[in-house]
Amino acid sequence: MAAQKDLYDAIVIGAGIQGCFTAYHLAKHRKRVILLEQFFLPHSRGSSHGQSRIIRRAYPEDFYTQMMDECYQIWAQLEHEAGTQLHRQTGLLLLGMKENSELKTIQATLSRQGVEHQCLSAEELKQRFPNVLLARGEVGVLDKSGGVLYADKALRALQDAIRHLGGLVCDGEKVMEIKPGFPVTVKSTAGSYQAKSLVITAGPWTNQLLRPLGIELPLQTLRINVCYWREKVPGSYGVSQAFPCFLGLGLSPAPHHIYGLPSGEYPGLMKVCYHHGNNVDPEERDCPEAFSDIQDVQILGRFVRDHLPDLEPTPALLEPCLYTNTPDEHFILDRHPKYDNVVIGAGFSGHGFKLSPVVGKILSTRYSTITE
Ligand SMILES: Cc1cc2nc3c(=O)[nH]c(=O)nc-3n(C[C@H](O)[C@H](O)[C@H](O)COP(=O)(O)OP(=O)(O)OC[C@H]3O[C@@H](n4cnc5c(N)ncnc54)[C@H](O)[C@@H]3O)c2cc1C
Repeated sequence: MAAQKDLYDAIVIGAGIQGCFTAYHLAKHRKRVILLEQFFLPHSRGSSHGQSRIIRRAYPEDFYTQMMDECYQIWAQLEHEAGTQLHRQTGLLLLGMKENSELKTIQATLSRQGVEHQCLSAEELKQRFPNVLLARGEVGVLDKSGGVLYADKALRALQDAIRHLGGLVCDGEKVMEIKPGFPVTVKSTAGSYQAKSLVITAGPWTNQLLRPLGIELPLQTLRINVCYWREKVPGSYGVSQAFPCFLGLGLSPAPHHIYGLPSGEYPGLMKVCYHHGNNVDPEERDCPEAFSDIQDVQILGRFVRDHLPDLEPTPALLEPCLYTNTPDEHFILDRHPKYDNVVIGAGFSGHGFKLSPVVGKILSTRYSTITE
């Protein structure tokens, strides 16, 4: 067994938002934690990079809406500790046909959970947001608590906090081998470490690390085109015009959501994206796509033309990002079935950023032996 001084309480693999929040909670609880990241930080090769993410309470499932209460508290606490703005409340506008079942379910969840929201008829929407065009029968629901999280700033704040609390953040160190047991041993490209527990938050690379440990999770990695669209009048969909984030439910013939954030991060450009993409190997995400069975950019172009007429209908900028999806798009937060002290957080299915404060808390405590 390793000498006590070399024995960490926990090793966390992957410095995306989930690994960072896990290491942050561990360090806050005075645990000796080391966070290993394969790329030099900051990097843009996983799922957590970029300027912005949507935060909202609006979900069909009560449990996500309930989790968001604590998430908002922890985001505010981190913002306070970091002394920098990580969140901006803009509201989140759900758009869909009046009879859309998901829209009705979300509305019912918001009512049941006592979340302040407002149902807007097409006429009310037109008055409030004249640069949003609705088709006949489409309506809106405004989740007032929705808004924008500043993703890159949040990652930096967490990594600074982990170091400040005595944890180690080691970037440019790819984990090559995991030897399970007590202690668990992890070999990286730069060294070998031992710990009481291991948390794997490796995003799209999760199965690469789990296969040698005898399991493979049903994860699908997708390349998402993050599209920015030029405003015909700069700022007309901007935060300064009180334009909200939006989530379109079934507004196009395509089966997946379309979402957008008010312009702000790149002046004059608004982010509007499709909540789906093409299968990709994370090692090959920057290669020209071998095949594109999902015509996401075309779907978005039609949506922009029909619903956001004050944007140019061809994207001005495309940035790649990766989703790691589970079959039901719910998260995997669990222990390895054979090795109790190996904890796995994966499959955040394109909606895990906002929930990472509580995900990190769960991974750092409930499923591990760390606090025992
Ligand atoms: C375009 C896009 C838009 C999104 N929008 C939203 C949104 O509006 N709201 C929301 O809540 N969520 C959103 N999400 C989802 C959210 O961003 C992800 O759920 C979240 O970032 C997943 O984080 P992660 O830590 O699991 O993965 P990652 O960020 O990919 O982190 C995994 C890390 O592990 C590292 N790693 C892997 N293997 C190794 C190894 N062997 N050794 C060392 N390090 C390793 C990787 O390099 C990587 O840094 C969006 C995602 C995308 C891509």
